[in-house]
Amino acid sequence: MLLPAMAIVRVRAHTVCRAGFFRSVLQTPACSKCPPHSFTRVQGSVACTCEEGYYRRDSDPPNMACTRPPSAPRNAISNVNETSVFLEWAVPEETGGRKDVSYNILCRKISVDSRHYEECDSTVRFLPQRNSLRNNSVMVADLLAHTNYTFEVEAVNGVSELINPGRQFVSLNVTTNQAAPSPVSVVRKGNSGKNSISVLWQEPDRPNGIILEYEIKYFEKDQETSYTIIKCKETELLADGLKPSSVYIFQIRARTSAGYGGFSRRFEFKTSPYFCSTPTVAASSDRSQVPIVAVAITVGVILLALVTGLLLSGRRCGYSKAKQEPDEEKIHFHNGHIMYPGVRTYIDPHTYEDPNQAVHEFAKEIDVSCITIERVIGAGEFGEVCSGPLRLPGKKEFPVAIKTLKAGYTERQRRDFLGEASIMGQFDHPNIIHLEGVVTKTKPVMIITEYMENGSLDTFLKKNDGQFTVIQLVGMLRGMASGMRYLSDIGYVHRDLAARNILVNSNLVCKVSDFGLSRVLEDDAEAAYTTRGGKIPIRWTAPEAIAFRKFTSASDVWSYGIAMWEVMSYGERPYWEMSNQDVIKAVEESYRLPGPMDCPVVLYHLMMACWQKDRNSRPKFEEIVCLLDKLIRNPSSLKALVNSSHRVSNLVEPGSLREASGYQSIEEWLNGIKMGRYVELFMDSGYTSVEVVSHMTVDDLRRVGVNLAGHQKKIINSIQEMRVSLVNNTIPI
Ligand code: AMP
Repeated sequence: MLLPAMAIVRVRAHTVCRAGFFRSVLQTPACSKCPPHSFTRVQGSVACTCEEGYYRRDSDPPNMACTRPPSAPRNAISNVNETSVFLEWAVPEETGGRKDVSYNILCRKISVDSRHYEECDSTVRFLPQRNSLRNNSVMVADLLAHTNYTFEVEAVNGVSELINPGRQFVSLNVTTNQAAPSPVSVVRKGNSGKNSISVLWQEPDRPNGIILEYEIKYFEKDQETSYTIIKCKETELLADGLKPSSVYIFQIRARTSAGYGGFSRRFEFKTSPYFCSTPTVAASSDRSQVPIVAVAITVGVILLALVTGLLLSGRRCGYSKAKQEPDEEKIHFHNGHIMYPGVRTYIDPHTYEDPNQAVHEFAKEIDVSCITIERVIGAGEFGEVCSGPLRLPGKKEFPVAIKTLKAGYTERQRRDFLGEASIMGQFDHPNIIHLEGVVTKTKPVMIITEYMENGSLDTFLKKNDGQFTVIQLVGMLRGMASGMRYLSDIGYVHRDLAARNILVNSNLVCKVSDFGLSRVLEDDAEAAYTTRGGKIPIRWTAPEAIAFRKFTSASDVWSYGIAMWEVMSYGERPYWEMSNQDVIKAVEESYRLPGPMDCPVVLYHLMMACWQKDRNSRPKFEEIVCLLDKLIRNPSSLKALVNSSHRVSNLVEPGSLREASGYQSIEEWLNGIKMGRYVELFMDSGYTSVEVVSHMTVDDLRRVGVNLAGHQKKIINSIQEMRVSLVNNTIPI
């Protein structure tokens, strides 16, 4: 069977192909016409020769047309986003007759002396790849900021390598934008002691500018809600005031004029056990030098000891004080934190010549098409406050609050309105209202924040009078204190802390809001002009801030005490209907608000501590958070409630209450406060004169037969008001 086949082969091998035809030895014995772009001028060819400018790869079959390299890609465009560039192009007009066209990217950047271009270094990333791209686009990332680059997009195919030179490319010149630094990636531990850890790190791989400072965040492992933030210019830090034998998490980020880069990953370092002795900052010894001065006429010694004990137990919770004047900027040690002299951690947007730059440094621009306004939820100083969903690309939609700037605003109003966003955008804390971004490119200008379902705290409490457990109320106070601790740590003084400026979400989480520049107090209906010209919410403000504008975190602590009082009395107005002038005088004469009804004594004493005349003796927010945490862990400490004797102990003993109150009889008084229904019960129980009534307690009211909590509160408050009038009558004006 084999012989005849061999014979056929031999017979056909004798056929000689004419010019223009070829017969490959490996192929069928018939002659084939030379494929396109090839020729042969002789007979008996086994292959055809490619025309000039056309090529054949070794791997191309002889019957395939000769091909040539493609022409350059067309219509190339670039799209710069900070330090990334997206390059896109159209396929070459001429593919050279092949299907294996691909693209290579050549990257060059201008040299440091700006004289010539040099190859990009290997840190530049190409997505999906740099060479042999089959798609018509590529993303180039991790370029340097503010730098000129040239990209050549070269088209190649299977025969490109056969010609040399003759690259076919299109070139694009690109300048990258300002960009934040890349994350710090190398962090290591230096020496550690039982109370301290030294941390060292390297500059980020891509600083993208001059690093102005680093921000170091650290906290005890699993205690993330309580953390410390420190700013410094060096690449090392000694974190002090730590617990022995404990693991701490450190994260570091760098800041350039373009803003903050991302935080580094979390680095875990441990302090030494107790037996390792390392010198630490003398906090505990200082502590004993700090007297806790309670307002003498107010606080029962035993109960004060309870508060003091709670405040002092535990190093981080103790009253601690730097050796310097606490208000000085040069505090090196403060509540267990190291502070770097002169370094302000919060950046005042006023320091920017162009307020728009500040907004865009700290707030993200949101496209208006991502926002749907559904309803109006409040009225702000600059326009309506609305709510609705925010739909950001690639994210699930979520509800937000939308503050709008009303039409016809002045340039100053626009700047002040957006100033709040420049401030809010610098904060990042679960008890500070979170800024989502701003809309400035279209009108109306908007500030977008997280949505707080229960609105402002004062209104919320009034609506839910008596509805919460003490622990729930303490939880709210804790949230407020934690937000304030964060603000004071980074050097921001709020100046207008009050329940109306706290927002509450659906989980009862309280967040500090209402940040502003000079206008901070101008939009507060409570703010009144002082003799020195400024506008101040008198009832919430510390005496030194009213008298000589000494606004500090210590004056915020005073306001916090008043806000505490508002919470514990379910939104009662501090000092009731007293005039601002009377409040100033009463406070100056050591009068303090009485404990709200049913308020745990320990909380009232904390309020009183916040209202100490000497601002340096007031507790720090750090200490307040610690105390509240302890109370939450130990609810029995909240059982002792303020009773009448405490409620009146801070008041000057009445001389003639009747005169001071302006009421001549019980009947007149009770009718005056719309409680006339109890006149008979009062009389029957022996409360026949205003003087006698002035000593009544809530228990006495119950015994008389006033059982409704709302009525008890109204009557007790009226008694307090009578006392306040008395105090004012006795204060020399
Ligand atoms: P403001 O201008 O910040 O004082 O806001 C005015 C009012 O709008 C507040 O008293 C709240 O009732 C409401 N409001 C402001 N921001 C929010 C928010 N993020 N979530 C819910 N309500 C808000």
